[in-house]
Amino acid sequence: QKSSPAQTEFYQAAEEVLDSIRPLLDKDKHYREQGIIERLVEPERQIFFRVVWHDDQGRVQVNKGYRVQFNSALGPYKGGLRFHHSVNAGIIKFLGFEQIFKNALTGLAIGGGKGGSDFNPKGRSDMEVMRFCQAYMTELHRHIGATMDVPAGDIGVGAREIGYLYGQYKRLTGSYEGVLTGKGLNWGGSLARKEATGYGAVYFAENMLQDRNDSLKNKVCLVSGAGNVAIYTIEKLYELGALPVTCSDSQGTLYHEQGIDLALLKDIKERRRGALTEYLDSHPDARFISVDEYPADGHAVWRFKAQAAFPSATQNELTEADAQALLANGVTCISEGANMPSTAKAVDLFLEAGICYGPGKAANAGGVATSQLEMAQNASMTQWSFEEVDNRLKEIMRGIYQRSSDTAREFNQPSNLVLGANIAGFRKVADAMIDQGLV
Ligand code: NDP
Repeated sequence: QKSSPAQTEFYQAAEEVLDSIRPLLDKDKHYREQGIIERLVEPERQIFFRVVWHDDQGRVQVNKGYRVQFNSALGPYKGGLRFHHSVNAGIIKFLGFEQIFKNALTGLAIGGGKGGSDFNPKGRSDMEVMRFCQAYMTELHRHIGATMDVPAGDIGVGAREIGYLYGQYKRLTGSYEGVLTGKGLNWGGSLARKEATGYGAVYFAENMLQDRNDSLKNKVCLVSGAGNVAIYTIEKLYELGALPVTCSDSQGTLYHEQGIDLALLKDIKERRRGALTEYLDSHPDARFISVDEYPADGHAVWRFKAQAAFPSATQNELTEADAQALLANGVTCISEGANMPSTAKAVDLFLEAGICYGPGKAANAGGVATSQLEMAQNASMTQWSFEEVDNRLKEIMRGIYQRSSDTAREFNQPSNLVLGANIAGFRKVADAMIDQGLV
């Protein structure tokens, strides 16, 4: 029931899930009888709080803080923190809702949650980011714990932010425990965590294509975003012999026909925290399309000739018109690194066309899965090699693909991985909720 008009993204996410699990609900009546839908769309707990900190000029700054603990039927709440000016309760709720099914699909023991703030780290000094993170954790620490709720990064929360958050948690609790994932490698982090979401989205694409006797080799690929997910998607695409020709940020889209210069992109975004336009200083043959030149009905990044696409920036960044352009330009494989990047109408077009389409909750689950591997390493006080984590990630992505595709077949819609992923995730969580009674 739409009792809160501001939660547009949450309704979009919930409607997609509820529509696609209808065949299961019609077949197995007990899910309705047990009130599972009504229980599932209501978070177990939502924490909204004030975050007060000093900027470098000594002025008082106030931001909104959020943590939504959505569902703990399968394990401790798990899901990232997003720091971005666009964050509001509806966005955190949509992300937390998606996280329940994504985490269930990994086959690992993790529940769903999400959090964040409308604080934007961009343009802030390291000291301002530190003071904000300390103020944020001063409230959050009482609600999280290694077996209760384990946050991670998301947009605007990378290694720097996780470090400051962890330091403050330790100071407040006196406890050195795996309460955040995405930690630094020399203080409890996991090798391959940074790479996991991007690599995972590419492994997912490879799994979809293999089933059609195809592969990513020699495919021209469009990637959006220029952050953690986009960078490691591009890295893995090169390793598998594909050619990524685009990336984007909130200022515009970069197109480089000979292939994105990955070392330069990492230097600009990971080291300098700079703008994509700086890329043109070294590669004047590349093109930069600024957001004010974008088509009115969509996003420039999806308007180039290619065979595969990897949306890796943010929600609703791929419209119906973008989907039409992708299909007309020859794209036959889409694997979503971002959460809900395609609008509902765009998804309908992909499903009608019968192309390989990997929805975010399946295709980008490699990040959270590797976070769980970080929790396992912390709990056993060990550190696994890069190869070991990467091999497990590959296996997990294969498993997610298999579960989604087997379930899609079971319901006679073999190429519909939206239906497959939603039903497989839902069934696992719903069965656990029923086993655990009315809690
Ligand atoms: P980052 O902050 O590292 O990068 C985000 C990128 O997307 C930046 O290039 C940013 O540009 C761009 N971007 C963000 N918001 C907007 C916007 N409103 N309009 C245009 N561009 C935008 O985040 P991640 O790479 O970690 O996350 C990207 C997506 O992947 C998100 O949807 C996230 O939820 C999802 N995801 C991430 C996981 C992870 O492990 N990190 C796990 C699973 C999903 P700019 O810098 O200019 O703002």
